[in-house]
Amino acid sequence: MSAPTDWTRSTAAELAQALADGSVTSVELTELHLARIDAVDGAVHAFLHVDREGALAQAAASDERRAAGETLSPLDGVPIAVKDVLTTEGLPTTCGSKILEGWLPPYDSTVVSKLKAAGLPILGKTNMDEFAMGSSTEHSAYGPTHNPWDLDRIPGGSGGGSAAAVAAFEAPLAIGTDTGGSIRQPGAVTGTVGVKPTYGGISRYGLVALANSLDQAGPVTRTVLDSALLHDIIGGHDPKDSTSIDQEWPSFTDAARSGAAGDMTGVKIGVITELAGDGWQPGVMARFTESVDLLVKAGAEVVEVSCPSFVHALAAYYLILPAEASSNLAKFDAMRYGLRVVPDGDPSAEDVMRATRDAGFGDEVKRRIILGTYALSSGYYDAYYGQAQKVRTLISRDFEAAFASVDVLVSPTAPTTAFKLGEKLDDPIAMYLNDLATIPANLAGVPGISVPSGLADEDGLPAGFQILAPALEDERLYRVGAALEALLAQQWGAPLLDQAPALEGAPR
Ligand code: GLN
Repeated sequence: MSAPTDWTRSTAAELAQALADGSVTSVELTELHLARIDAVDGAVHAFLHVDREGALAQAAASDERRAAGETLSPLDGVPIAVKDVLTTEGLPTTCGSKILEGWLPPYDSTVVSKLKAAGLPILGKTNMDEFAMGSSTEHSAYGPTHNPWDLDRIPGGSGGGSAAAVAAFEAPLAIGTDTGGSIRQPGAVTGTVGVKPTYGGISRYGLVALANSLDQAGPVTRTVLDSALLHDIIGGHDPKDSTSIDQEWPSFTDAARSGAAGDMTGVKIGVITELAGDGWQPGVMARFTESVDLLVKAGAEVVEVSCPSFVHALAAYYLILPAEASSNLAKFDAMRYGLRVVPDGDPSAEDVMRATRDAGFGDEVKRRIILGTYALSSGYYDAYYGQAQKVRTLISRDFEAAFASVDVLVSPTAPTTAFKLGEKLDDPIAMYLNDLATIPANLAGVPGISVPSGLADEDGLPAGFQILAPALEDERLYRVGAALEALLAQQWGAPLLDQAPALEGAPR
């Protein structure tokens, strides 16, 4: 007799198949993932809130539908975790901040509505850097998430909780958000797949804004196909978001399935000159070069492409983002909802606001509010914010010029593998540098994916391969990403996460 299947190790596509052929029920799957959360999340801390009852009720409803011969989507019954920056009706949504502790949103974000309409049970809400500011999840007011590959290391950020939940087999799927890399960089350092769609491809309604012109929600999964399946469900036009693109999207699932055949004939790939070289970890570069070679062997044509403005992307981002964030976070004023701290004596409304914001926001949030307010102040506006917007235009032009001659651009996703918890916490610039390769896509609104490219020789930790496509051409990410994944699987002999050290017995 063969050993029972450990469904928590299966991909979402496999789970969908198992549900369809009756090998397992959604309630069983949901219980297994909840049990896995019980077993390992004390050590990983990927979740801020687990909704046991809600998830099991949704799973039971899915099983009933299926028994009646009705399913809502290909992923009906497959459980999922959601980053705590997306509103969930009646379920806590903290954005990793004390200022929203205990807040129960009165409505669902569109992404969450779509998940519910597609029948995916929601396991809970995942940990994140406060208001999505950070690259390590150490800025969460509720304590850091640990990388399942090495619990002393960071899982990336700001969406470290979603990536760690998927990497630790606590959830087969998760939702992240990416403003400067918070889906892709956690993907790279945890060996998971993460997609930042074209700006406007996925509704931002109910996504608590960090920087409206940069934010985009997207899939966090263990395979490219799973991301495609999820993207097909959460994407599409939403009249509630004025920046949502009103067009029909192709099937990303079909794109991933066709890419998995591994034929790259006719595909032209540009390696970005500026996103490699000094300061990039040798093991990360080695896995990157190897992946490029595999794509060439599969028929792709590879050229080097210079994007000269990319060297200014980080500086521009850290003016534009704080400017938008400082204005967005003004709404947390103790008057409407969330935390309210009333100082002793006879405090004025301003005193209450000051005390609440002082107690409710962490250091990184305060740093960016100050930076953004300064950059927007009259007298400095042109010198800082205005200049940054010009750089943003130059970056878009670099992308346009590059995509005139290549189909996709590639780079390593992050300059290093996962660093130690605490290592960069006191050095904001060192922290910001993690997003060197991911930020340009947000500034230009183009889509990007991070695909695991293997383990770095020097530390045995996962490295990520980033693929970028022109706006609206997300399909290409799935085609090339699935091809690379298939080619690399021949090298590894198994999906990368099968090599991850087991977490059971891990210290707590
Ligand atoms: N790490 C980047 C920042 O701190 C990106 C954040 C994000 O994508 N949400 O702003």
